[in-house]
Amino acid sequence: MGSGDARQRWADGVIRCKNESRRRNSFVRGNQVEARVQPKNARAPVISVDEALARIVANVRRLPPREVALLDAVDRFAARDVSAGLSLPPFDNSSVDGYAVMAASCAIGTRLKVVGEQAAGPDRSLSIQPGEALRILTGAPLPAGADAVIMQEETEREGNEVLLKAEVRPGEFVRQRGGDVTEGQKLLAAGERVRTQTVALLAAQGMSSLQVGGEVQATVVSTGDELVAPGSPLRAGQIYESNSILLQTMLTNCGVDVVSVTHCQDRAEEIEAALRAGARCDVMVITGGVSVGAHDLVKPALAKIGATLDLWKVAVKPGKPFLFGRANECAVFGLPGNPISAFVTFLLFVRPAIFKLMGADDAELRLPESTARLRVAVHNDAARPHYVRGSLRHGSFTPVGLQESHALFGLSRSNALLLAPSGAEIAAGELVTVSTWE
Ligand code: AMP
Ligand code: MG
Repeated sequence: MGSGDARQRWADGVIRCKNESRRRNSFVRGNQVEARVQPKNARAPVISVDEALARIVANVRRLPPREVALLDAVDRFAARDVSAGLSLPPFDNSSVDGYAVMAASCAIGTRLKVVGEQAAGPDRSLSIQPGEALRILTGAPLPAGADAVIMQEETEREGNEVLLKAEVRPGEFVRQRGGDVTEGQKLLAAGERVRTQTVALLAAQGMSSLQVGGEVQATVVSTGDELVAPGSPLRAGQIYESNSILLQTMLTNCGVDVVSVTHCQDRAEEIEAALRAGARCDVMVITGGVSVGAHDLVKPALAKIGATLDLWKVAVKPGKPFLFGRANECAVFGLPGNPISAFVTFLLFVRPAIFKLMGADDAELRLPESTARLRVAVHNDAARPHYVRGSLRHGSFTPVGLQESHALFGLSRSNALLLAPSGAEIAAGELVTVSTWE
């Protein structure tokens, strides 16, 4: 299904919502599709996203670092600064197949005596004199006396002589020792994310392992009587449980070891037992049951296991009934049951906390941001800032799907979030900053 279909699906949602005057969340004006986010409840909760994030980040401590094989260091955070122990390249070498020469004794039409060959591999400790050339291959060490290489294509071999058909400048086609990296140069800072490219550089330094931040172990607990595991038959009133796979995948993508995933019915003892077991991990992500209904049993269960509640309810849409607390050493996150709320609050609060536990520095806690041109107007009349889900492609951001907290289709087509602050009226065509997570 293309993004055109996704937009159509969104426009359909718009038309359907038009009849519901109070709950209308978007509408079409002429050909222009406009997203409008209406307040359901104008009373703003106390804690802002920034304040909640600051409190959470201040509350979690980096885990002790560990040494891992370079392959396992990707997407982890460096535990300490890494400096080059080796210059790169480690020796002057040829960047082409050709002849190593002394530039001063070369001109177009010069014939040089070929005195040997150096391939990539062990240095044969060869040298040349004026009037001589050495056959050399890509990556091979330069012989003593040579200061340039002439490409094979610019020469003609005549027996044990070579005819030069081009000028040669000193340094030409020579990769200088230390030209890329000099010994002692800083390659990686503590707290910086280790990427595929980073481990390639470290491998080129001869490193086979790296000190990275500690491994986070997490558990996922979902709650709700209405939820059925995918693969089982669905009865009237039931829906499939989709947050576990969402959260498990998001945790894994963050580099977390997910040790258990448990689903609980809305029964106090069952939830309490799951939370007690989960609290042995560094992080527990609970979904559903964190609101104020009679079936929202997570808060009392947390109290029963002796957890502290550090914050509850954040001024964000989707995602208001979010809680953060602590059960001994375990950071506890209670995410709303609505899948989009769970997704957004994970990105806003759980991801940065996990990254901090993993040793990330402050800059790495933020979601990556891009500037994009907004394709349709977005208005937010609500009291809470709204994270609009959409598709970022080639510098354009288009909201996708129904912008409600249960609506998974739009999220499934989205790769970016646009923060529409309360009261925002962002016109189509404006440049906006969107956050991404992939
Ligand atoms: P709750 O936060 O428990 O009040 O749930 C809010 C909404 O999210 C309800 O419509 C639930 O059915 C839905 N929901 C809760 N947990 C899940 C889940 N694990 N997977 C899919 N939907 C869920
Ligand atoms: Mg529930």
